[in-house]
Amino acid sequence: MERLKIAIQKSGRLTEDSQNLFNECSIEIQDGKRQLLAPSPNFPIDLLYLRDDDIPQYIEDAVADVGILGENVWLESQTQLRIVKRLGFSKCRLCLAIPRGEKYEGIDYFRGKRIATTYPNIVKKFLLDRGIEAEIHEISGSVEIAPNIGLADAICDIVSTGSTLMSNGLKEVETVMRSEALMVANPNLSPEKEAILQKLLFRIEAVEAAKRNKYILLNVPNTEIEAICNILPGMKSPTVLPLAKEGWSSLHSVVNEEKFWELIDNLKAHGAEGILVVPIEKMIL
Ligand code: ATP
Ligand code: ZN
Repeated sequence: MERLKIAIQKSGRLTEDSQNLFNECSIEIQDGKRQLLAPSPNFPIDLLYLRDDDIPQYIEDAVADVGILGENVWLESQTQLRIVKRLGFSKCRLCLAIPRGEKYEGIDYFRGKRIATTYPNIVKKFLLDRGIEAEIHEISGSVEIAPNIGLADAICDIVSTGSTLMSNGLKEVETVMRSEALMVANPNLSPEKEAILQKLLFRIEAVEAAKRNKYILLNVPNTEIEAICNILPGMKSPTVLPLAKEGWSSLHSVVNEEKFWELIDNLKAHGAEGILVVPIEKMIL
């Protein structure tokens, strides 16, 4: 039987959240400390532990079928991989930064400047789209020290809090792109592999839906059941169970976590008591 090969980062900012994604879907995985290829014992996938920068090429060459990587790395790779899901973790942005003392009046600043970056393709395109030609210097690490050692006039790098820029005497002046973790796939998967991918996506979506929703239980006077059912949306309609106490019922439903706080005063106004809100582990719609 076919198995789907999924490339994830071996060790870095994406690793833990990528592994959690499988754990939450009840897919057992092994870590990549001792092995490059780690088969799951209970789902037809093999994890391939790689450096994040290598993931696009491995998928393009069909050594891996699917990968989890930063949008920044995907875009920089200029490969034709299809995005199958935005995963919402490892959020960061790619910024242009210049020495703090410099006056900045707009993108024209970068005309003819030397810019150090690990993302030459992204930066070149960003500037060309705005009619700016600059000298892009690709360097592979510690981009933020380039201006201090005279290697560049500016940098383009990933920023999450800005403290690294600050401590290197730089200031952020343009956001080039925002990034999050993506699940990408080779556009030509076999039907068997595509089916495994869809099964995986189904599980991921059930976990996501569960995170967004809570199971709610509350005691309500029978006279208020109808009014309360109308304000509680529920998946179909709420479950109503009689309580031992005469004239009261227990009402169960599912509510969106964000809506819950808006609902609560309204529920209490209708005499609801003993409200319990419980997490949901999986939710199949
Ligand atoms: P590798 O050894 O695999 O090449 P790396 O050093 O290139 O690792 P990491 O620093 O682990 O990569 O970052 C991986 C990805 O996580 C980045 O490509 C980016 O999408 C995202 N990322 C980077 N920095 C941050 C941050 N400060 N906050 C959130 N996400 C980040
Ligand atoms: Zn990397």
